[in-house]
Amino acid sequence: MSEVIYMGEKNKKLSEKIEELSGEKITLCEQCGICTTSCPMADDMDITPAGIMRYSQIGDERVVDSEAIWICASCFTCTVRCPRGIDLAKVAEALRELNLRKNVDHIDVNHLDEELNELPAIAVVSALRKFTS
Ligand code: SF4
Ligand code: SF4
Repeated sequence: MSEVIYMGEKNKKLSEKIEELSGEKITLCEQCGICTTSCPMADDMDITPAGIMRYSQIGDERVVDSEAIWICASCFTCTVRCPRGIDLAKVAEALRELNLRKNVDHIDVNHLDEELNELPAIAVVSALRKFTS
């Protein structure tokens, strides 16, 4: 499979980090948009799944701070449908890891009191593992 494009030298390091952490070859993405049209969460994202790929390819730091990477539910619908065989869920996971390396939690555990009463314990544990550094 040929690589499609892109990677400017300037932001190459971020792209390389994403590839290293995710194990995915993000340059293979051809921006077909199938991931976006397949994603059940896309309407709530500030960057579409295809946008996540594009930002990652060009090493645009804004993708690391996007809401979209947290809204991704790792449902793997895009992964199954991608014609280039890219596991976008893994790319989102890598981006969350890069974000958490800044040591900023994505939820405030001190303000979960009401939610804690409503949720099953396993959901709380999963949320803490996903959203905190
Ligand atoms: S479906 Fe695959 S190739 Fe198409 S835009 Fe999404 S990640 Fe890129
Ligand atoms: S894995 Fe994430 S980006 Fe892909 S379809 Fe599911 S929610 Fe959307």
